[in-house]
Parts: sequence; structure tokens; C-alpha cells
Amino acid sequence: MKNSSSKNQCPHARKCGGCQLQGTEYPEQLKKKQKQMQSLLGKYGKVNPIIGMKDPCGYRNKVHAVFGRDRKGNIISGTYEEKSHRIVPIEQCMIEDAKCQEIIRTIRGMLKSFKIRTYDEDTGYGLLRHVLVRRGLASGEIMVVLVAVSPIFPSKNNFVKALRKEHPQITTVVLNINDKRTSMVLGDRNIVLYGKGFIRDRLGECSFRISPGSFYQVNPAQTEILYRTAVEYAALTGKERVLDAYCGTGTIGITAAAGAKEVLGVELNPDAVRDARTNAKENKIKNIQFRQGDAGEVMQAMAASGEKLDVLFMDPPRAGSDEKFLSSAVKMGPDRIVYISCNPETLARDLTYLREHRYRVMKIQPVDMFPFTNHVETVCLLSRNK
Ligand code: SAH
Repeated sequence: MKNSSSKNQCPHARKCGGCQLQGTEYPEQLKKKQKQMQSLLGKYGKVNPIIGMKDPCGYRNKVHAVFGRDRKGNIISGTYEEKSHRIVPIEQCMIEDAKCQEIIRTIRGMLKSFKIRTYDEDTGYGLLRHVLVRRGLASGEIMVVLVAVSPIFPSKNNFVKALRKEHPQITTVVLNINDKRTSMVLGDRNIVLYGKGFIRDRLGECSFRISPGSFYQVNPAQTEILYRTAVEYAALTGKERVLDAYCGTGTIGITAAAGAKEVLGVELNPDAVRDARTNAKENKIKNIQFRQGDAGEVMQAMAASGEKLDVLFMDPPRAGSDEKFLSSAVKMGPDRIVYISCNPETLARDLTYLREHRYRVMKIQPVDMFPFTNHVETVCLLSRNK
């Protein structure tokens, strides 16, 4: 263990709690993660060396700040203290994109002269709750989302003008209305104040639309490596029928479609499915379709009607997959399963099931998507025993 005076230590580390590996040098962090993956997944096969980042700082392309006041009444912005609603003021974060943070600081400085009050959770008074800034790494497009309790935002046009004067790189500004007593950042309503209301970003050959609420991986440089590895493991020849389960906005299926005969994406969240269809259209990909629903239910229905599948991509949330999904997958018997996981513990559980049902683990590739935190993403290739 390094002591807390290590030069990697962020001054906010203790109160913020977002980075569990603060104070540990990056090469050490990678060793630690490798060891953890080895102990969790080593029994299934050889664990390849984790792919780390050249520069592990400033990778988060989505930066969120909660706004409020300190005891002296000064406007502050930062993050909630762990398991509480107290705001930890953050001046500078090591893992967030520098430009996005700069925009947040500018907004904080503008509030007073525009007479915009920050929202107080206890009294319910005030207007501005959060600011969310998202940046397309490859496209350079920047979206600012102002989250307020009311659509009545004083001199909003001048506010946007003044903000864009400081940061001409901002391509769109959205006012999001969240009037609920909730810990969710975004409300349901978006009012576009400037630009198109979304940004685009590129991953590999494809471009993707990012709306205020869409899911998009927060570390695009490592996401490219993750997807490239997944598509390489799928070894597509152009003849395959492919399923992209838990597909989100369709990023993996769209990336893989050019190499396949046809792709079906399945996703529970209707908004993500809508974004996925738009993404497919904008990338002029015709051999992909999306179905909204529970992946297990959809798989079960497909297996019951005797449908066949050559390659299965699956990228479930942290809880992993379930027996309904896995048993139907096994029934459909794809030659290869490419499992992308954000939680090695549930991955291990699901690999055990697949191993007991005629699949062999061929490759295990950890990718460090979240330096300074203890999360690890893994791509795993399984092959059906002949
Ligand atoms: N593959 C995507 C998204 C992965 S995140 C990407 O790389 O960007 C996991 C996704 O699974 C989320 O979009 C979530 O909405 C979806 N999901 C969660 N439970 C699901 C279920 N039971 N059936 C289908 N999709 C589900």
C-alpha cells in the first residue's frame, strides 16, 4: 500500500469516494486488477494481460456536477459525499475531461451576475440543480445540460451567449427540467436552448448520437479497444446471423454489422432502442434490426420457435445475465459467444453455467476502462464444443 502522500493522490479523494485506487501509481493499479482477474477468472482459462491506458487521467467524457451553497452562502459545485446528500466541492478532478470541468467552473462563476439561485434540497427553493457536460472525444462536439426545477430560466438566451463566448467549442445547450424530489440527475423534459440537442461521437468507423440521457461508454479511447477486441473474437466472415444482447444504443452490433450477414439487437430501455435505430440509419447500416424487451424473454421466444444463431454478443449490466437468457442461448447453440462484462464476479457465475452446457472459454481479455477506480471490463470468447 502506498501512503496517502503519493503524488497520485487527489485532494478530494477521501470525501468524494469516487476513486478507490487513489494514491496507487498506475502500473500498480494495473497489477492489482490483473491479480484480481486472475483469482476470479483464472480457473476458466488464461487471463491475458490487462490493456491499460497510456495516460490514465482525464478520460471521463461525461462530467456531472451538483450545485449548491456552502455554510457561508458561497456557490459550490461538486459531487455528493458517499451515501449522503452533502456536496463535496470539487475544484479539479483527475479522471474527468479537463474542458468539461472548465465549462462547469465558468457556469459557477456566471450564476451570481445572472441572479440564478442554486436549488436547495431541504427548502425546495432555488433553480439550478446540476450541470452535465458531455464531450465527443473524436468529434470535439460538446453538450451542456443545465438541470433546473423550472423551465423559467432568467435571460436564458444571454446566458447561453455568454457561456458560448467563453467556450465556443460548445455545440449544443439543453435545459432539462427536474422538479422531483429525487436523487436522479435528469428529469423527463428537455428544452433545447442552442444547437441540435445532441452531440455525435465516433468509435472506430461508426458515428453515434448522444442525447442528454443516452447511455454511452464514458471512456471512448478504451471503448474502441474493447469493441475491436469483441469484434475480432467474433471472427465474422459475412455469413453469420448475429445477436447483440443488452445492446444499449446499438454500438457493438453496428460496429460488427459490416462483417455479418445480419444482426439483431435486443435492449430493454425504449429510449436506447430509439437511439440505436437512429444510429443504424445514420451509419447507413441496413442489415441490423432492434427489438425492445427483456433479453431473456426475447431469447426464450427465439429458441422456442427454433431460430438459429451463429454468434452471440452479450453485454449485460453489473448483475450479469440470468438463467432464462443463458438456457435459451445454449438451446440456440451459437458457435461463438462473446461476453463483454463490467463485473467479473457475475461473469464468473455465468461462465460456470456456460461451461456446464457445452461451451469452452477460449480467451479472457481485461480492459481498464476506469483507471483509479476498482472497476474492470472484460471481453471473453466462448466456443461451443463440437
Ligand atoms: N452494449 C451497450 C450497453 C451495455 S450496458 C454498450 O456497450 O454501450 C447494459 C445494457 O443492458 C443497458 O443498456 C441496459 O438498459 C440493458 N439491460 C438491462 N437489463 C436488461 C434486460 N433484462 N434485457 C435487455 N437489456 C437489458
